[in-house]
This record gives sequence, structure tokens and C-alpha cells, in this order.
Amino acid sequence: MKSPRSLIRPLVRELHPYVYGEQPKIKGLVKLNTNENPFPPSPKVLRAIKGATDGRLRLYPNPTAQPLCEKLAKLHHCKSDNIIIGNGSDELLALAVRCFVEPKQNSKFKIQSSKLAKATVQYFAPSYSLYPVLADIHGAAKNAVPLGANFTLPGVADVKRAKTWSFKAALTFVTTPNAPSGCGYKTSELEKLCRAQKGIVVLDEAYVDFADENALKLTLKYPHVLVARTFSKAYSLCFQRVGYFVGNAELIAALHKIRDSYNVNGLGQIAAEATLDNLGYYRANFKKIIATREWLSRELTLLGFRVFPSQANFILVVPPRFTAQNWLQKLRPRAVLVRWFSARDVKQYLRITIGTRMEMETLLQAVKKILHEK
Ligand code: PMP
Repeated sequence: MKSPRSLIRPLVRELHPYVYGEQPKIKGLVKLNTNENPFPPSPKVLRAIKGATDGRLRLYPNPTAQPLCEKLAKLHHCKSDNIIIGNGSDELLALAVRCFVEPKQNSKFKIQSSKLAKATVQYFAPSYSLYPVLADIHGAAKNAVPLGANFTLPGVADVKRAKTWSFKAALTFVTTPNAPSGCGYKTSELEKLCRAQKGIVVLDEAYVDFADENALKLTLKYPHVLVARTFSKAYSLCFQRVGYFVGNAELIAALHKIRDSYNVNGLGQIAAEATLDNLGYYRANFKKIIATREWLSRELTLLGFRVFPSQANFILVVPPRFTAQNWLQKLRPRAVLVRWFSARDVKQYLRITIGTRMEMETLLQAVKKILHEK
């Protein structure tokens, strides 16, 4: 009898999976580690979900989430065939790798280096830590290229000079605004980069509702550019797992071919549709979160933290006195959970999700106590 381990594909055996933010269910915990929205979904959204929990749960949901696509098409001034809905935008990021990138090698042949670009997933470092995992799962090559100083987007001339950037990479992910730094990018800068790329570019706008500008117009202008959005962060729907891509109809149709038949759960579709009928509620929350972000950034700066300017619902900081990992450990017993990444290039930082003003007051009190520790 073979060992179970030997039955697993070598690629999967060796794989380092994505590291999730912790989801503890401890009462009274100020949870600032996974960029969830501190405000609940609108009461109308909750009513829509409750109203749908009846005998209909025995039926399959709409396989393409068509009514939701149509509402989104109206919102974004495009056609419904420019939109695909996913089980969170994470699912669509994974589909993009499978759809547009060749595996580096399969059982028959090893890809020649001249063809490596066709097997390359490219992204800036640091950015969303899922991208390299998706590339690894697919057996694709990874090209992680450092961002500029303070997480700025390198210009086309800069990446050309650095020589490590591939203008022919099959797929390039750009997190905009950047995570984990929160650094916002101008559409004009993104456009220059997009124009220079020969392969697909996914602009991952998971946090864009907290930013000054979005780059949606680029996807309607350039057929090789896709924009990823999610209902998780700005629309308080992490639990329901709904995200989407906007892009060229031919690319969207290709993604439809490889998704699961009923990839978006029915209650998620209903929740997302009701969300789009209540945008005023969410827009008021964006304003509150942005104001709290700016206030917290000032307060932490006064306490000696280095705070990077953010256009997202989180901030990245370099804390004073102790290492970032120590701060994580010291905040936790005070019922405050923040995010620390162990990767070499980001281990000096803490990422703090913007919560309610009251949650931020609790954080600041804990920080002050830690700073005054003997
Ligand atoms: N993109 C980025 C940059 C993210 O941080 C996240 C959330 N971790 C996602 C995409 C995925 O969000 P979801 O799958 O919840 O839509």
C-alpha cells in the first residue's frame, strides 16, 4: 500500500499555501487584522437575505448571476457580458491564472526559456500575498518586482532599466491601491504601464472605494486590462463571498468557460443585488472610514509610529520601541488583533484595519499603555 503522501502530486506536496488572517471568535476583541468593514451591511440588505431564506434554498442559484451582472453593468456603464461574478474576487484571480497562463511544465514538455513569458505571473512586491500562491498552484513562473520607494508604482522607464520586469508576461497583477501599504496609484500612471504590457493586466481594486480615484475606465479602453472588484471590504459582505471582474467580453467569456457551474451562492447574489440598491448607505460609511483613517494616522504619528499614507481601509506602520512582531504579541492580550506578516520584505511592519472610531480609541489606549511599559 502506498503512503497517502506519495499519492499527492509533487507540486501540491511542496506547496506553501496562502496564510489567512486569523478569524478568532473571542468576545470583545477589536479585530483589525483582515480589513473587514466595521459597519454591518445595510438593514435593507439584511432584510433581503432573511427574506430569501425559505424553500427556495433547495434550488440552484442563477448560474451566471445574471441579474447582478446587469445591475453592475448599469453602474459601470458597460454591458453585462463585460462582467463575471466570482465566489469572492479571489476565485476570479485564480481563474485568471488558469485562463491566461501556461503551466511552466506539464508531463510532456518543459517550456523553453523563450516561451517563459507565456508561463509567467508577474506582480509587484510587496502586494497581495495570494498571487504567488496562485502561480505556484498552477505551476507557473513567478516574477515579483520590487515597488519603488515608499511603495510607489515604478514608471515604465524604471522597470525597463531594472531589466527584471517582463513586458510580455502572460499575466500581471497590480494591487491598486496597494496592499499591504495602502499606497494609491494615479490612473495616468497605471495607464502607461498597461499600454506597455503585451499580456493581460489585472488591476486588483479590492480597496478602491476608499481611494481618490479608480481605474475602471482603463478596462473599457484597453481589451487586455481587467479590473477586479469585491463586495467584501467596502460593502461589508466578506461572509457572502462575492467579487467580480469587469473587462473585454471575449476574455470574460473565456473565464466563464472554466468556472464552476454555480460558483456564486444564491444568498450572496441576493445580498449583492440589494447592496447596489443601497449605495448611499455604503458611501456614507466610506467617508467615516476615510476620516477615521486620517485621524488615526495623525494620532499614531504623534506617538512615534511611522505611518505610510493610505488610500485603503487599513494603514501600514513601522512601530517604535519594539519589533512589529512584539507589538502583535503585546496588543493581543489587550484584546486588539492586528496583522503582521512574517515575510522578509514586510516583517518590520504592522497592518492595521480601520475600525470604528471607538475601536480606534481602544487601540490607541492599548498602544499608549505598551509604550509606557517598563
Ligand atoms: N485582492 C486583495 C488585494 C485583497 O486584499 C483581497 C482580500 N484578502 C482580495 C483581493 C480578495 O477579496 P475577496 O475574495 O473577499 O473578494
